[in-house]
Amino acid sequence: MSAAVIDGRAVAEAMREQVRAQAEALHGQGVSPKLVVSLVGEDAASRSYARNLERAGQRVGVNVAIDVLGDATSEAELRKRIAVHAQDPRVHGIVLAQPLPAHLTIARIGDAIPLDKDVDGTNPQTLGLLALGVGAFVPATAAAILLLLERSPAWPLAGKRVLVIGRSRVVGLPAALLLLAQHATVTIAHSRTRELARAIRDAEVIVVAAGVPGLVRGDAVSAGAVVIDAGTNVVEGGVVGDVDFAGVSAVAAAVTPVPGGVGPVTNVMLMRNVVRAAEHARALSSS
Ligand code: NAP
Repeated sequence: MSAAVIDGRAVAEAMREQVRAQAEALHGQGVSPKLVVSLVGEDAASRSYARNLERAGQRVGVNVAIDVLGDATSEAELRKRIAVHAQDPRVHGIVLAQPLPAHLTIARIGDAIPLDKDVDGTNPQTLGLLALGVGAFVPATAAAILLLLERSPAWPLAGKRVLVIGRSRVVGLPAALLLLAQHATVTIAHSRTRELARAIRDAEVIVVAAGVPGLVRGDAVSAGAVVIDAGTNVVEGGVVGDVDFAGVSAVAAAVTPVPGGVGPVTNVMLMRNVVRAAEHARALSSS
């Protein structure tokens, strides 16, 4: 079997069209959807994330402002700064570029972002609302994973055995919650999981977000499985995912590549959330 490659770039472009049209409609009503990216310190990955968001915003008509703060910014100072954006009616979404400097942790700061501007699900309450299935912004990477599954032969997911490898609050956990909401039978694996190979073999759908190159190999996956690779690992010679792409392609029904899979869809899903936040704010202000 040779797997179908799920083309994240094409999925992203189709979604971008939709988001662009929604943003245009807002512009027509005098609203400019705006995202603030709080960037603390000099970390190269955080800077590159912020710049990528700037470009992603330009492509759909979302104004992205990068709020640069010094390396030594304290938690109290960062909270104050976020509060300024939280109170600004021209700002519709706030995200924190990660990784943060070591003295700041997302788990402690996340609640500074108000729920109506929490477009990447950083506030722990957003995750709680997601778990209960009551109106919250869906973290962008998890939303991208679901959209790619929707475009795969595994859809619909009801009753299917889905394995999520990784339980982080930004990717694995929200993805698992969304999969559960689709009535999949969800297993979550992590670094302490015993017999991961057996869990992989058992799964009809595998979503991996572990940050371990080559973790999911072709000889472990069952024929006909659908594999979504959220891993983004910088190695010598480029970026690779968590999946042995060549090996898995030989047995799976469908697989996402890295690069060109989850990554391109993620930023568009974030912009979609910003536009939704702007639409919501406009509806509230005119009611
Ligand atoms: P993270 O916070 O480090 O979490 C990694 C998760 O994988 C943890 O739950 C960890 O288990 C688990 N894990 C690590 N090694 C494992 C192993 N050998 N077997 C099974 N589970 C293992 O990372 P993250 O932020 O979720 O990111 C995960 C990957 O996704 C990274 O490559 C990251 O770059 C990528 N990512 C991609 C996007 C995108 O848009 N495409 C966005 C965000 C992240 P424990 O909980 O037990 O430690």
